[in-house]
Amino acid sequence: MPATSHPRVLGVAVPTPLRRLFDYRTGPSVPSGGWRPGLRVRVPFGRREVVGIVEECRDHSDLPLADLKPVNGWLDDTPLPDDWLWLCRFTARYYQHALGDTYHQSLPVLLRQGRPLEARTRERWRLTERGRNSHGEQLGRARRQAELLEQLRLHPRGLATGAITAQGFSRAQLDGLLDKGLIEAEQETVIESPRAEYRSLLAEPALPLNREQATALAALHEGLDRFHPCLLQGVTGSGKTEVYLQLIEAVIAQGRQALVLVPEIGLTPQTLARFRKRFRVPVVALHSGISDGERLDAWLAAASGRAPIVIGTRSAIFTPLAKPGVIIVDEEHDGSYKQQDGLRYHARDLAVVRAHKESIPVLLGSATPALESLAQAQAGRYRHLQLTRRASRHAPARLELIDLRGRTRQGGLITPAIEAIRQTLAAGRQVLVFINRRGFAPTLACHECGWLAECDHCDARLTLHRQPPQLACHHCERLRPLPDACPKCGSADLRPLGAGTERSEETLASLFPDVPVHRIDRDSTRRKDAFESMLAEVRRGEPCLLVGTQMLAKGHHLPHVTLVVVVNADAGLYASDFRALEHSAQLLIQVAGRAGRAEHPGRVLVQTMHCDDPHLRLLAEHGYDALARQLLEERRAAGLPPYRFLALARFESPRDAEVMALASAAAEALRDWLGARPDPVHCLGPVPAPMERRQNRYHMQVMLSSPQRSKLHEAAAWLVAWLEGNREARRVRWSMDIDPQTLS
Ligand code: ADP
Ligand code: ZN
Ligand code: ZN
Repeated sequence: MPATSHPRVLGVAVPTPLRRLFDYRTGPSVPSGGWRPGLRVRVPFGRREVVGIVEECRDHSDLPLADLKPVNGWLDDTPLPDDWLWLCRFTARYYQHALGDTYHQSLPVLLRQGRPLEARTRERWRLTERGRNSHGEQLGRARRQAELLEQLRLHPRGLATGAITAQGFSRAQLDGLLDKGLIEAEQETVIESPRAEYRSLLAEPALPLNREQATALAALHEGLDRFHPCLLQGVTGSGKTEVYLQLIEAVIAQGRQALVLVPEIGLTPQTLARFRKRFRVPVVALHSGISDGERLDAWLAAASGRAPIVIGTRSAIFTPLAKPGVIIVDEEHDGSYKQQDGLRYHARDLAVVRAHKESIPVLLGSATPALESLAQAQAGRYRHLQLTRRASRHAPARLELIDLRGRTRQGGLITPAIEAIRQTLAAGRQVLVFINRRGFAPTLACHECGWLAECDHCDARLTLHRQPPQLACHHCERLRPLPDACPKCGSADLRPLGAGTERSEETLASLFPDVPVHRIDRDSTRRKDAFESMLAEVRRGEPCLLVGTQMLAKGHHLPHVTLVVVVNADAGLYASDFRALEHSAQLLIQVAGRAGRAEHPGRVLVQTMHCDDPHLRLLAEHGYDALARQLLEERRAAGLPPYRFLALARFESPRDAEVMALASAAAEALRDWLGARPDPVHCLGPVPAPMERRQNRYHMQVMLSSPQRSKLHEAAAWLVAWLEGNREARRVRWSMDIDPQTLS
């Protein structure tokens, strides 16, 4: 494509789920740099005008030129960043998603809406020559103006308007000083480049590394100028973050940028503070809590290179970088890196692809790496770096299995666990009780006839909640009032079955009335900041009980917790999903890792009905690595990822016959097509999804698998094309999930 051109036709990616470009005619006027791919345009689409992105510049179209609508205009004279365009195109192709929708999903909202590609600016105020020589003589009784003048005198580089108003000064006071010629304003971009005058990048010194950390960092330094995929496997609390920080220091010292991905619940103010305290350069954060304006600022600062460090959750992988230097994926095993609807991408996998394209290192860190990543390390494709020791004195605690069978439970806990809690609290320490069920009890049952409260819209039990009292479906969020009597037999003997966080909280509060009990789950932390303020209180160190779901399991440094009790370890042991065991082992190790992170050693009690389960015992006795090795062998034998690749076509509709008909027709068509080819692709199904009915919609699946990724992709692409061309398919919702993380 020539740098400037005057094509007659533009193939435009518009925001729609349709997997094709739409052709438009160019008009007499041309953007200053000519028409180029990557330019945003306004185009008529149906009855609306939408913002699309030019993908192809041509002189011909399959339609007569006279039938094409002209573009309404262009938004920028320069294309969107190349690296961003490349990644979106790759993502659309790999995940079999419409390019237009991929662009749309991965662009900041304001750019989708047509806002110009210009960074927002703000005013920075400083004293004029006259202001510097003045001591407020001419200010008379304007006391606040005099105080503002003194404030600015303390900041020779000036202060931004926001920083001034935050100190209680008003715009009128600024204008007062401006009118008197004592101060002046300069426009600056909201996120500024690091200033050259900084002598050092570091605001606080780096920690001296221990031997293992130093070895890991040295290996990372060696690969700064090439694609260098590394898996940093370090036990919880081993100082992985310190290695990230020192790696980033080396990267920004070269004038390049670092992109850091963290799990959804990992980007806490605490994590950010750790990065911001270390570096004297801007650290921009991208997560769901920022405004559209802030997101655009961060995106533009990253694209122009003004932001040396970008840290964000899953979608931050789509941040353009002018001078990429490294991509770090913290807790790389975390499920939140996979988007489960719409554009179904995996941010960790895209991180590796992107690093390869840019020829830069990529660092995946975890105490419990995904089997996919471990297999890559075993095969020698990723460099395997290990941290086996904690920075603090005590090694992570072993898991002690305790048998639930035949024991009476109170709020889910049996006597030995309650005793251990009592002793820990008496010693002045904190206890974390982990229970992966929010609500009071997993369900409500009739003691007379065995009736169970079930959702009318899903194949699922209703959870009993007490705060407020109601039955809730955790799959469709439907709420129902508590029944007074059994709807089946009329008995009033309705009892909660099992325990959730609310019930454990209630029991523990009555067993230990002198100690605060903090419940941490999605319900108790709905209010913004509730979680952080609870954690802040816990970090003060008074004895207390924490009862919580996996929100508590990950990443948090809780130095005073010395005992962790896992109420029930059995959820993943016999689940149908082939990843359930891997995921529950990761969760157990992460939860266990909260114990004993500071001066006192920790203890972890794991309640289970299956003390003899070989996987659970392997994990408890030999650790995550041993279990992971075993699971990999099993996956190899069963022909499952990472040794075979999967794609899952999902079908859903309120009418079960329609779903069944389409899923069967699709599977049959695919088998016919595959039958004519020698390629090793298997087609399984259609089968009902594990929860067939959800929100009154029926779900079916067809699974494709192959040991060869390229063959799998061809088959998946063929099926997608078949579905797009099928009239029946318009009445059923369907999707294609490449490398699905769950089969539900
Ligand atoms: P991870 O990310 O592996 O869970 P962190 O990086 O959070 O571990 O480190 C755990 C604790 O150990 C933190 O409080 C950190 O400040 C401390 N730490 C890490 N590395 C060192 C070191 N080399 N010397 C002293 N303390 C360290
Ligand atoms: Zn009954
Ligand atoms: Zn439901």
